Amino acid sequence: MRPATTPAVGDTRARELADALERLRQRIAAACQVAGRSPEELTLVAVTKTYPAEDVQRLATLGVSDIGENRLVELEAKHAAAPDLRWHYLGRMQSRQTGGIARHADVVHSVDRLKVAHRLGRAAVAAGRRIDVLVQLSFDGDPDRAGVVAAGLPALADAVADAPGLRLAGVMGVPPLGADPAPAYRELASLAARIRRVHPGATWLSAGMSGDLEAAVVAGATHLRVGTALLGRRAPLVG
Ligand SMILES: *Cc1c(COP(=O)(O)O)cnc(C)c1O
Repeated sequence: MRPATTPAVGDTRARELADALERLRQRIAAACQVAGRSPEELTLVAVTKTYPAEDVQRLATLGVSDIGENRLVELEAKHAAAPDLRWHYLGRMQSRQTGGIARHADVVHSVDRLKVAHRLGRAAVAAGRRIDVLVQLSFDGDPDRAGVVAAGLPALADAVADAPGLRLAGVMGVPPLGADPAPAYRELASLAARIRRVHPGATWLSAGMSGDLEAAVVAGATHLRVGTALLGRRAPLVG
């Protein structure tokens, strides 16, 4: 994280974000204490989806260096406004979007099928970039949600590791709605450990959101993806 500076006088949103960030950092520190871990092992990815580029700028001023988006149009617009931050793509991936994602994301958390891995790799090469990739687990195989089932995870990890333009960074997972996050994150961590035996560089575990980050920290998360707890409740998406 960069050194924090004081928000401009009169910017109440900046003050609000500063307070939320402080509370979040205290929450992460407390979770680390319980887990016997150091907050330095964790990267906070601020998920700014639906919030304006000005909020990204405010967070950057407060020392947040990693920003997450789940829609390509928003990623493109906000990345253009703040190209020096580290941009994370976390959304469902259509293979026709891989070119845009490869040009604007530094990290992709949501690769969940071979076709997308291959196309993202080719797009990264074409863009002259090397992208950090996490393969996304589906805990329950729900076809309406992103992720590959556990049995398909190793082959997908191999494909990412073999793709020029991509670096296999680790594993990501979002527990099913209403599920107990603690066993889900333990399962995710154990699958990630198996991948790591074959690919020692795949050390990242992207797990933990506003509602469940404590369970993720205990399980060994390295990347927390936090939206609501930092930016506030999102307006429901239309369409
Ligand atoms: C929106 C989103 C988050 C952040 O969720 P919050 O509950 O708002 O913290 C994390 N991960 C993914 C994949 C998301 O789409």
